[in-house]
Amino acid sequence: MSHSATNCPVCGTIQTGFFATKGQYSLSKCGECALVYAHPRPSRDDVFALYARGNSRISELHFPKAKAKLRHAMLRAARLSRYVWARDAIDIGCGGGFMVEAMRRFRARAVGLDLNPQRIAFANRHFPKNRFFCENLEEFPRREMTFDLVFSSQVLEHAHDINDFMSALGRISRPGGFAYLKTPDRDHWRVRQDLASENASGPPISIQFFNKTSIRILLERHGFEVKKIFFKVKPTLHVLAQRK
Ligand SMILES: [Zn+2]
Repeated sequence: MSHSATNCPVCGTIQTGFFATKGQYSLSKCGECALVYAHPRPSRDDVFALYARGNSRISELHFPKAKAKLRHAMLRAARLSRYVWARDAIDIGCGGGFMVEAMRRFRARAVGLDLNPQRIAFANRHFPKNRFFCENLEEFPRREMTFDLVFSSQVLEHAHDINDFMSALGRISRPGGFAYLKTPDRDHWRVRQDLASENASGPPISIQFFNKTSIRILLERHGFEVKKIFFKVKPTLHVLAQRK
C-alpha cells in the first residue's frame, strides 16, 4: 500500500511517517508530538455505523454490570464533585447513562450523548430525570446548549475527525468551564508499544492514540489550558483542562 506523507492532525507538522499496519489499515506516527493515527482514515460512515449497530447484550431493560457501573460512576462523580455540584454537565459517549445519573445525584443538571440507540433507550428508561440525546458531538452544538463541565471517557481515541470533535467540544464549553477527558495512554509503562499485536484495537475502532504531549497540544490548539494530567496505574490518560 502506498503511504503518502501527511500533516499530523494534532500538531500540524509534516514530520510524520509510516508506523505499522493494523488489519487492512495503516497507522502513521508523528515525529514531533508522537501521535499515532490511522492514515488514511476509515470512512466516516464506517466509523459511525460501528456505534449505531445493535448489541445483543444491551436493551432498554438490560445493561451488563449496571449496578457496578453506577457505583463506579458515583465514585467518579464524588471525585469531581467540585466541578459537578450545581453545574451544567454533559457526558459525551454516556453509554447507559450511569455517569449522567451520578452527576445528577451530585446536584448537576446533567445530559448525556451517545451514538447507540439501545444504550440511550436504557438510559432514558432507568434515569428519566436526565436528558439524553442519541447523536454525535459534531451535530450537537446546533442545540446551543453550553456546559460548565464536559466529561468524556474513552471516546477521543474513536473520534472520526479529532479536530471536528474538539471544535464541537470547545463550542459547548463555557469560558472558564472544565473538560475532564479520559483516553488510553500510549506511552504508559504498562502498554505494549507494538500496536500491530492482536490485542490492541486499531482502526476503525480506535483511530488515534495519544500520549501526554499530543493530548496537551490537542487541547491547547482548541482553546483549553491543561490544568492537570493525573498519574494512573492503569494505562489511561486522565486530563483536566479549562476553557479559556
Ligand atoms: Zn504531531
